[in-house]
Amino acid sequence: MATKAVPGLYIHIPFCRVRCAYCDFCSTTDIALITDYLHALSKEIELYRDDFPTFDTVYLGGGTPSLLSLNQIEAIMEKIHNVFSIQHSSEITIEVNPADLDLVDLERLRGLGINRINIGVQSLEERELILLGRRHNSCLALVAIEEALKAGFENIGIDLIYGLPGQRLSRWHNTLAKAISLNPSHLSCYELELKPGTPLGRKCLTRELPVHSQEILRDFFMSTSEILEDSGYVHYEISNFAKGMEKASRHNQKYWDHTPYLGLGPSAHSFKANNRWWNHESLAEYIQDLRDNKHPVSASETLGLGELLMEAWFLGLRTKRGIDLDVFQQRYGCDLMKEKGPALIDLAKAGLIIIESGSVRPTRSGMAVCDALALI
Ligand code: SF4
Repeated sequence: MATKAVPGLYIHIPFCRVRCAYCDFCSTTDIALITDYLHALSKEIELYRDDFPTFDTVYLGGGTPSLLSLNQIEAIMEKIHNVFSIQHSSEITIEVNPADLDLVDLERLRGLGINRINIGVQSLEERELILLGRRHNSCLALVAIEEALKAGFENIGIDLIYGLPGQRLSRWHNTLAKAISLNPSHLSCYELELKPGTPLGRKCLTRELPVHSQEILRDFFMSTSEILEDSGYVHYEISNFAKGMEKASRHNQKYWDHTPYLGLGPSAHSFKANNRWWNHESLAEYIQDLRDNKHPVSASETLGLGELLMEAWFLGLRTKRGIDLDVFQQRYGCDLMKEKGPALIDLAKAGLIIIESGSVRPTRSGMAVCDALALI
């Protein structure tokens, strides 16, 4: 499903100083491999020179991009500007750990044209940060946010996690209140996912640590949405809040509406013209393929119209904007009111969606159960 929207560029930087207790993302603590990785990345950028000429968002994610030196980040920025056309008004984001950068570093990042910073705060309670295995404390997180402001970042995002084992709602609300007092332009609030392969996941699955019920997790979600919307944030996607839609992540929105994107680095996914492909998770395989001048692609799939339609339906119900019925019909050939009208009207009567002005949008209660909504 080709669109005229400008693609986004994601670069995965797969290094972390230590592994957090809850994390199963693609990253390694073997920072001796950074030089080889950067050579490989440079080659991978070249491989896509003719396929993705222009971008209007760039996202340096990880892993921990702020583990790279400023010179290394500068080299990546130079390379992508040399090979691709990065539009003048692009949103350029970097994820950082609060422990890594001082004011001078942050000013240098701004000087490289990076105009959005996403700080991995996760919690502002010491005990919780220790439980999560984070390497910063709340004081460092607060300093990082203040210094990002001083460095001239007007678009500052904070990542937080709720639903930690034993976490009381009141303690989560304390973290939220502290975060709101810092006035970030963007907040991502994720429910803790318990992954069996992680130390925290194992302790919860063996009941060494307590696990919240679905009802309690729903209370976390609903109260988070209520508190942040009352504080002037738009709850624009299930986990994301922005001070007005102009501060919403332009890059992440591309993932939700089938805009093309190119992902570089191990495990990164790409999407273009109905095709999705993804790179090796193994850093060693990624580096070796690029040494051999091969695309480091692990697998790919071509999506049929039915699969694209299901994705658009599923992803649209996760966003406040919801689904524009006319656009949906034009792109996917499906009249949703004709196909699912009675079920949609029942959901509207139950207060889970709103059908008006030619669109279907989830309410807050609907967002809380959006995976189930998508199954109608
Ligand atoms: S810093 Fe991020 S990517 Fe690295 S281990 Fe922690 S959660 Fe995972």
